[in-house]
Amino acid sequence: MLTVNDQTVLLDCGIFHGRRQESFERNSTFPFDTSTIAAVVLSHAHIDHSGNLPTLVRQGFRGAIYCTYATKDLCKVMLKDSAYIQERDAEYMNRRHKKKGLPLVLPLYTQEDAETTLSLFQGRPYSKQFDVIEGVQARFEDAGHILGSASVALTLKERSKTVCVAFTGDLGRPDLPILRDPVFVDPEGESSYVISESTYGGRFHQPVRDMADQLLAPLRRACEKRSKIVIPAFSVGRTQEIVYVLHQLAGEGKIDNLPVFVDSPLSVNVTDVFKKHPECYDEEIRAILREPDNNDPFGFKRLTYIRDVEQSKELNERAGPFVVIAASGMCEAGRVVHHLSNSVSNPNNMVLIVGYQSEYTLGKKLVMKEPVVNILGEPHEVKAEIIVLNSFSGHADRNELLEYARHWNPKLIKGVFLVHGDVDQSEKLAAGLSESGFSNVEIPARGQKAQLVA
Ligand SMILES: [Zn+2]
Repeated sequence: MLTVNDQTVLLDCGIFHGRRQESFERNSTFPFDTSTIAAVVLSHAHIDHSGNLPTLVRQGFRGAIYCTYATKDLCKVMLKDSAYIQERDAEYMNRRHKKKGLPLVLPLYTQEDAETTLSLFQGRPYSKQFDVIEGVQARFEDAGHILGSASVALTLKERSKTVCVAFTGDLGRPDLPILRDPVFVDPEGESSYVISESTYGGRFHQPVRDMADQLLAPLRRACEKRSKIVIPAFSVGRTQEIVYVLHQLAGEGKIDNLPVFVDSPLSVNVTDVFKKHPECYDEEIRAILREPDNNDPFGFKRLTYIRDVEQSKELNERAGPFVVIAASGMCEAGRVVHHLSNSVSNPNNMVLIVGYQSEYTLGKKLVMKEPVVNILGEPHEVKAEIIVLNSFSGHADRNELLEYARHWNPKLIKGVFLVHGDVDQSEKLAAGLSESGFSNVEIPARGQKAQLVA
């Protein structure tokens, strides 16, 4: 939250994932008066950045929400879907509460709230400065993280004083499929601050170029064992990248007989948004699309997109080998939960984890190889093979974050605030930045305030 000239701008407004009750309380109670927010600047569409905007609107916010055009289109699909999940969740809880005589719960927000939220979105192009509120200007640069993702260069003016703030949003990685590489954002002013994500501040990823090889080995094994492979993936980003890499492998004749299902109405819609925004593509995918006999890089012969619930249920009975990619990425909601409840107890199956998993989520429990997990309220023995692949991460790793920071002159940066990371990861990044000469690196606690001085 940035307060300038007594007006407040919010940077992102995401949903918190974790234990159910804690999540509901944190998501439904903002640590500030929502009526004081004048505008929101949104870095990208991922639900942990955009997913709580409808709660903000439900509690009275009616200002503008600025983001890139692709983010706006993605949010159209994702916020409605998120609202649908909130409504279904509340219904499910209420059926159980009724049986136990407990009070009924309300959804965090409804589809109507999501619609109102979407009417406040204002698309802005990359690399062009725009006014947010009086005294605040912003510019989006490509963060190379998901379609439409942006880092934000902010200029704050109060009376005769100017402060520049670079907000990284979620930083992507060079060479990710489909997307352009991250564009560096410099807080150009003399009084400069950085707000940086720190998700993988202490970890290293496998190189992006290893994606296809990493994926191929388990796919081959699955073909031999006739396994079902469940890949939990967020509908935006990882799903399209996995499909793109599978498309490459199929093109090279390496996975000919392996049927692939993308089982998520949201992923189907999101893939349509991808097709609508070629302005966000890198040169590699542009070249593919220019080929005269170009085949759709988001689809191939053995790939089926599933919208229908009945078709989704049919996969339960289907004999392997096949791959099913479904959301959500942390296995907390969506159709993947049903696929997992159906698959994890069979030692012949595989679960391929390709994205970040927060504490206490089902995805994290699978990564931690817990022998028994609760799915939809029922205990399930985990006998399927759990494989974790980290070359698919859309987040910069430690090296890439430090490399990005090398663009900043430590002498000109008055403060770096590390956000959006588990504390151990933020601390490791802070240590790395201090070694690189940054003297004022802080990991702010929730609710902490800081004065930016000109
Ligand atoms: Zn993200």
